[in-house]
Amino acid sequence: MTRLGIDVGGTKVAFRLAGEEPPAREDAFHWPSSPGPDAGPEADWAALAEEVARLRTGWARPITAVGVALPATTDAAGRVTTWPGRPGWAGLNVGARLRGLFPGAAVRWADDGDLAALAEAGRAGSPDVVYIGVGTGVGGGVVLGGRSLAGSEIGHLIVDRSALDERCDCGRHGCLQAVASGPATLRRAARLRGGAVSFADLRGGLLAGAGWAADALAPAWDALGAAVTSLGELLHPDVAVIGGGFGAGLPGFADAVAERVAKYARPGFAAVPVRRAELGGLSSLYGALLLAGQEEDGHG
Ligand SMILES: [Zn+2]
Repeated sequence: MTRLGIDVGGTKVAFRLAGEEPPAREDAFHWPSSPGPDAGPEADWAALAEEVARLRTGWARPITAVGVALPATTDAAGRVTTWPGRPGWAGLNVGARLRGLFPGAAVRWADDGDLAALAEAGRAGSPDVVYIGVGTGVGGGVVLGGRSLAGSEIGHLIVDRSALDERCDCGRHGCLQAVASGPATLRRAARLRGGAVSFADLRGGLLAGAGWAADALAPAWDALGAAVTSLGELLHPDVAVIGGGFGAGLPGFADAVAERVAKYARPGFAAVPVRRAELGGLSSLYGALLLAGQEEDGHG
């Protein structure tokens, strides 16, 4: 039995291929174009198919189950209804395309935030977990009683109605994602520093103790702290896990959110513990692999 997990992101796609015997194999590639309206689904799909063919080479056994983590919203048939990161994908039948790419394999897909939350809940050994992934967007998921609360949209929690400088890609002002996503923070950093700032620049600035780096990140940490605190009031999770490629890649990111959450706690009530994602930026990928395993085990 060979399971394949695929994490489809806004800028790149990651794979993890695991059989009965280790070692598992990991791979990733970047989409041929940046996120945005020019991102063509046919060029994206050709790149994906090419990478899958490359993965299969040298792996003797057939792939029997595939789990896919998607940031896009899909209908029951697997057709993309919205994906603000790559809007050209709207209308694309990802379900049919995936089945075409993996004939004979069981194929399932789910929201990347939901899958990441499941993977992190497993790592934390806890049935009640809130997960927030900070990357190209802000996604997340909730696991309660060991089960995924499907359809949660943590990135679109409104955390600051006065934040009018950045509009969320859903069109609204004040969403967590509009304040705390990686690109939103990098744009803030560029304004503060007076020049383009890459992720590596921001990381370097943060490590060097540069004021502009901390100032660019502060609104993101505040917004994430507000979101975790509000979710805590509603759901009382054992732990809030902060991950995503951007969040997991910056030193002290989750600790800074934890500081906010401790500060915002209601007097007399314990703050929700906040931890860095154990799987780092790979939570969705491991969740996708879990989904493939569920399909194989017949729990689908
Ligand atoms: Zn929004």
